[in-house]
Amino acid sequence: MEPLDRSTRWPYDEQGELREFHYQRFGSPTVAAAEEALGELDGGTALLFPSGAGATTALVLSVLAPGDTIAVAEGGYYGTGLTFAALAHWGLRVVEFDQTGAPPDGVQLIWLEAPTNPYLTMPDLEAAAAHPAPVVVDATVATPIQLRPLEHGADFVLHSATKYLAGHDDALLGAIVCRDATTADELRTFRSNTGIVAAPDAAWLLLRGLKTLELRVKRQAETAALLAERLRAHPAVETVRYPGFGGLLSFDVADAETARKVETSTRVIVNATSLGGVMSLIESRARWEGERVPPGLLRLSVGLEDSETLWADLEQALG
Ligand code: PLP
Repeated sequence: MEPLDRSTRWPYDEQGELREFHYQRFGSPTVAAAEEALGELDGGTALLFPSGAGATTALVLSVLAPGDTIAVAEGGYYGTGLTFAALAHWGLRVVEFDQTGAPPDGVQLIWLEAPTNPYLTMPDLEAAAAHPAPVVVDATVATPIQLRPLEHGADFVLHSATKYLAGHDDALLGAIVCRDATTADELRTFRSNTGIVAAPDAAWLLLRGLKTLELRVKRQAETAALLAERLRAHPAVETVRYPGFGGLLSFDVADAETARKVETSTRVIVNATSLGGVMSLIESRARWEGERVPPGLLRLSVGLEDSETLWADLEQALG
């Protein structure tokens, strides 16, 4: 493994000039190594931030001006809406649109999610790329193993690296991967000056996670596909949402009470929020999102446990 360097400062060179790394807020070796690895996976220039929400904040403040409008995919991660709402008094405006079609005119940024959490819809990347505004794709759930949005005309990829990329539920981290190197430089300067900077420890955990990303995602997708198929055939399950790849799915049971009973009855699958880790997690989303989701909607993040063990756990919880 690459070494973990926690230093906040590095000596100037023999002539008293700056070396590549001098003060951690401007850049550090472990963060830079993780950015290099992620940039290669996504085919762009990656920058790390202390969380996915922090990456969202930094990008919006860096590329937009007061009065600008973001067209955001409806049914996407509810927390992104909360981040935008927190920036409303700086003049940020937001309109929701159906990302399976073309984005509306007159917006300055397009915010897609591939696929949405927890509705699992995929964006029309071609229609978005044809729009004059820059396009951000939150590909947290797809990961670069399943989708490389920059190859489909996106300008920025956003990851909650907390999820699949780090992969073990022990690092909070976000990333923006930029198609254009000059834009990346501007965002890096904005990051240094505003201090929205990722810690080396989290970056090191990301580096480690990336080494197994492909294996994990493939296995999680295989298991998720199997569980989705069996859930579709289960009499207590009404709707199953699974885009056909990746490790995240959602399904509806009759009502909120049934959902609460199912999520508190699993023994292997942990009743907790988040997704993308090696352990399977289940939760009713209405506790967070209220009426934005059906009351019986359960989100299941499939981990690396044996698929038959997971199915047996779901079956007994649904029964
Ligand atoms: N984007 C998606 C799709 C997410 O699921 C999340 C977190 O759940 C985020 C962004 C925000 O990431 P973080 O929790 O790392 O701030």
